Amino acid sequence: MEIITARDMGFCFGVRRAVEMMEEAARQTGALTTLGSTVHNRQVVERLHQQGIEVVADLDEINGRPVAITAHGVGPQVKEALDRLGVPVIDTTCPIVTRSQQWAKRLAKEGFAVIVFGDPDHKEVRGVLGWADGRGIAIADEADLDRLPDHLPSRIAVLSQTTHTEARFAAFVRHLFETRMERISELRVINTLCNATTSQQAAAQELARRVDLMIVIGGRESANTRHLAEVCREEGVETHHIETADEIEPQWLAGRGRVGVTAGASTPDFAVDEVIARLEEMAARLEAARRS
Ligand code: SF4
Repeated sequence: MEIITARDMGFCFGVRRAVEMMEEAARQTGALTTLGSTVHNRQVVERLHQQGIEVVADLDEINGRPVAITAHGVGPQVKEALDRLGVPVIDTTCPIVTRSQQWAKRLAKEGFAVIVFGDPDHKEVRGVLGWADGRGIAIADEADLDRLPDHLPSRIAVLSQTTHTEARFAAFVRHLFETRMERISELRVINTLCNATTSQQAAAQELARRVDLMIVIGGRESANTRHLAEVCREEGVETHHIETADEIEPQWLAGRGRVGVTAGASTPDFAVDEVIARLEEMAARLEAARRS
């Protein structure tokens, strides 16, 4: 059994930068908090916790300690609340997310209704909506477009959650235009997809076409990891989304010639190494059983 890794996978530059900034801040301050999890990956959160970085769900739990804004970013209301608290703030918002936020602010100011194609409960999307100053609305799925309120302005701008696939964003925009054409006087589409994730998705797709099984590693809450698994399944290959090496079932591998491995942008290198080591061990056992 051959194990092949995707040519682009794992920690993206935005997550790596955020983790490094937090580790440095924790070394200097000794007691750092983050507003929500740094990334949607349990293992990374646990490692940061060991370095004194505590996740808090609410501003009330900060208790005067320095606070880090995660790579997903926050809305201006949260920044203002942090200013009022007067605590040191380490802003690790990914520059690509900052760009989405700036677009949302600018388009709302110009009078557009700002539609964000993304999960309304996702941190990045909530933050971007915050910058749209009450003119933003998040839509998770193109099927939900039919439920858009009738009273929306006729000038509509569309952004995407950074981790969506190109194909889904294109389909969403097409569907929006087709279903509301007569009510739209101007449609602006800003490509806010992240190159890091589109490159990883292209690499996963290319690999999925030439293997018998795909293993996608990453947190279950991680949107970009889920999208990677989606891309692989769309290629018709059996795909398993796992968080850790011990979730691999030996029967998945029986009779497989080539197994592909990829990992989401919030998946640390050590998690990938553990999965590959486990796959190699299982492959060796299967080979030994075949020979005996
Ligand atoms: S996936 Fe892209 S947008 Fe998100 S943190 Fe990584 S580099 Fe930034």
